[in-house]
Parts: sequence; C-alpha cells; structure tokens
Amino acid sequence: MKKIFIVGNWKCNPVTLIEAKELFEAVGKGVGGLVNAEVVICPPFLYLLNLKSLNFNLKLGGQDCFYEQSGAFTGEISPSMLKDAGCEYVILGHSERRKNQQETDEVISKKIISALSAGVKPIVCIDQISQIPKKKNIIIAYEPLHCIGNGNACDPKEAEEMRILIEKETGGDIPILYGGSVNSQNAKDYTDAGFSGILIGGASLKPDEFVKIAKAVDFSG
Ligand code: PEP
Repeated sequence: MKKIFIVGNWKCNPVTLIEAKELFEAVGKGVGGLVNAEVVICPPFLYLLNLKSLNFNLKLGGQDCFYEQSGAFTGEISPSMLKDAGCEYVILGHSERRKNQQETDEVISKKIISALSAGVKPIVCIDQISQIPKKKNIIIAYEPLHCIGNGNACDPKEAEEMRILIEKETGGDIPILYGGSVNSQNAKDYTDAGFSGILIGGASLKPDEFVKIAKAVDFSG
C-alpha cells in the first residue's frame, strides 16, 4: 500500500507552548492506530524541539526555511537546523509566503535545493502548472488559491484534472497532495481522486477533526 500523507500546517498558531503540546498530544494519541498514514505536523519553529521530545509517532516539518545552511542571515532558520530539530519535511512556497513575503519561484527553487541537500523533503505548494519546480525527490501540494481557508474546497473532479496535468508534467513519481478547505467530510474525495494525501490548514488546529480526516483517508493508498 502507498503511504498517504496527512500534513497539518499550524501556521502562526497556537500562541503558547502549552497549547502546542496539548494539540500535538491529542493528535498523537488520536492517530496512534493508523496503518498507512504518514502524519506530518508543521508547527511554528519555536515549538519543534519540545514537540519532538514528546515522542509521538508523528513526523515533524518546518513551514519554511532559508536557502543557506548557516551564516550572517539575521532571523533565518536553515534546513540543517530543521533537520537537527527533528524535521523530515519542510513546506515551501506556501501561497501566504508568496503573497506576504513576496517569495518568487526563483527563491523557492533555491530553498528546495538547500532543503534537499540537508536531507529535508520539500512539500512545495503550487496553485498553477507554471509553478511546478523542475526537481526530483519533492512532494507537490496543489492548493488552489480560491479554496484556501474559506470553506470552499475545490470540486474533486476539477482537482483530479489538475492532478493529472501535474503528474504529466512531473513524470508521475512525485506524490501530489491536495490542500484547500479539507475537512473530515470531503477528505476522502481527494484521495479517491488519486491524490497521495492532503495538506490541512484550519482543521489541523482542531485535533478531533484532524484525527477524523486522518482516519478517513488512512486506507486510501
Ligand atoms: C493552507 O493554508 O495550506 C490550507 C490548506 O488551509 P485550509 O485547510 O485552512 O484551507
């Protein structure tokens, strides 16, 4: 059976470490019995080491990283640091960063190279075919802009058409996730449409709902 990815992007939440630990623990306990799912939690950087030490069967990911491994880059977090903090994955090119931090495909491409060289797998968010990076050993998350954070999930048929185009473009051996207003009612529609998993924003902050999503897609692979 193929692995199904369930990636939770906590964004800039929650505000305290205590809440972060409670959330992580609730998810860790809830997904404990899953067979097939690779559950990846991407918390704010500050919480990574604490969450790692809780020892749940959850993978960790960063929400971004810099494109150099170290040096005079005030405020940046490097892929090597993420690796050292227990991250196997890093989200790159999220639409919020493309918009708020003006990240370009060129910068994202440098970050992908740097993450790969540190042994951290990039989950690269795209909204259109032209944003697909020409790289191997990555995961792509198709996240239509108009579907993020508003309850208007993409029609699964339309998402499937896009998935097929992305698959053609990437040669077929790169996992493709869907992201955009996924909940426990619609999650399986996307794995049924051939996606290798889902990227979850809002619902990743609600442990019961997040666990329900993971359970709904666990056997999809
Ligand atoms: C996201 O921001 O990547 C996302 C998928 O958010 P939501 O699930 O809230 O639409």
